[in-house]
Amino acid sequence: MSEFLLKNADTVLTMDDDRRELSGVDIRLRDGVITEIGTDLETSGATLSARGCVVTPGLVNTHHHLYQSLTRAVPGGQDALLFGWLQTLYPIWSRFGPEEMFVSAQTGLAELALSGCTLSSDHLYLYPNGSRLDDTIAAAREIGLRFHPTRGSMSIGESDGGLPPDSLVEREASILEDCIRVVDAFHDPSEGAMVRVGIAPCSPFSVSRELMRDAALLARDKKVMLHTHLAENDEDIRYSQEKFGCRPGQYAEDLGWTGPDVWHAHCVKLDDREIRLFAGSSTGVAHCPCSNCRLGSGIAPVRSMRDAGVKVGLGVDGSASNDAGNLVLEARQSMLLQRVAYGADAMSAREALEIATRGGADVLNRPDCGRLAVGNRADIALWDVSGVESAGSWDPAALLLAGPTRVKHLFVEGRQVVNDGQITTIDLPKVIERQNRLARKLQS
Ligand SMILES: [Zn+2]
Repeated sequence: MSEFLLKNADTVLTMDDDRRELSGVDIRLRDGVITEIGTDLETSGATLSARGCVVTPGLVNTHHHLYQSLTRAVPGGQDALLFGWLQTLYPIWSRFGPEEMFVSAQTGLAELALSGCTLSSDHLYLYPNGSRLDDTIAAAREIGLRFHPTRGSMSIGESDGGLPPDSLVEREASILEDCIRVVDAFHDPSEGAMVRVGIAPCSPFSVSRELMRDAALLARDKKVMLHTHLAENDEDIRYSQEKFGCRPGQYAEDLGWTGPDVWHAHCVKLDDREIRLFAGSSTGVAHCPCSNCRLGSGIAPVRSMRDAGVKVGLGVDGSASNDAGNLVLEARQSMLLQRVAYGADAMSAREALEIATRGGADVLNRPDCGRLAVGNRADIALWDVSGVESAGSWDPAALLLAGPTRVKHLFVEGRQVVNDGQITTIDLPKVIERQNRLARKLQS
């Protein structure tokens, strides 16, 4: 039995069903679960002072391509639109191997952890030179984050009229075979699971209609989730209309890609009918505001989605299109961007934080995460509001208006992954050195 007591938190934003905000309370963590929230709690285990801190559920990242942390700020891709940007990067990614996948995943996950993230999904859709989903799962296990990797794929190469080079696409039969392999090897459906695997063809423009449909059938058979990119920008909508004769929402619906076990990244261009479709079918959305800004894709109608009852989570997206992977800054960006489109009252700091915690957990079907309540997993972020960023704040719990952009302490499944701003589980300076060495090798 391992027990930890967080003492005297200034404020706890629980994100529980009543959205309670508690002052001066303690939180007891035992065997990975929150067992008590109250005042004057005692423990025989370790104690950590939460004085001067705002405590929130760990943030949840619903969309990422961790491998891309090795291709940040690549010249030639810095100012391009989506399709041009991809064509610049594909040849570089085709030189990746298992070591690149492992080290880039550790780097990306460390960056997420330091920004308050306890649960991240990942979308890995290319497997050059012997790379496997296993490489990223090993990286997540070592660092200790809760991880939902998805087995992505691309099957339509340049010679078939697709976007990626032929060297990066796979045969559809091998894709499905490997999906089965990784689900059988790693997927854990139980409550409190540290690893859950999803199935995730890259996008409607990089795989066939048949693979989209077969992936959906396989996911239902295996009872795992489905994920892809959808309706990201105007080019994407045009492609769908020209190639499939319908909008992306219709395409998704026709192929079994709606439902509580599906979430789509971006959805910047969803129209009212598609928003109703997603709300009615409990289909989730991974909102990626920085990436949408960076690639000039537009502003996702998150206000309308939320009002209609669509499940919305937050995603930093791959580092080649963000280029940062800071989840709390991403939450702030989501708040700002809705205000640009719909006015200053379009989204509050607390609502944006809710999307980043509870919202993401709901998108990933993890009601055991994303809220601080007795019986939930002990995934907890402590934010130091005694620093310069919060100095003078009348409402330190409005973290996204004036608060730190790095977490002070972070617990995942009751285990301390960040202590006093430092990762405890891996030697981060060594990982950074290795990452930079690999990046230089890719440059040369
Ligand atoms: Zn993406």
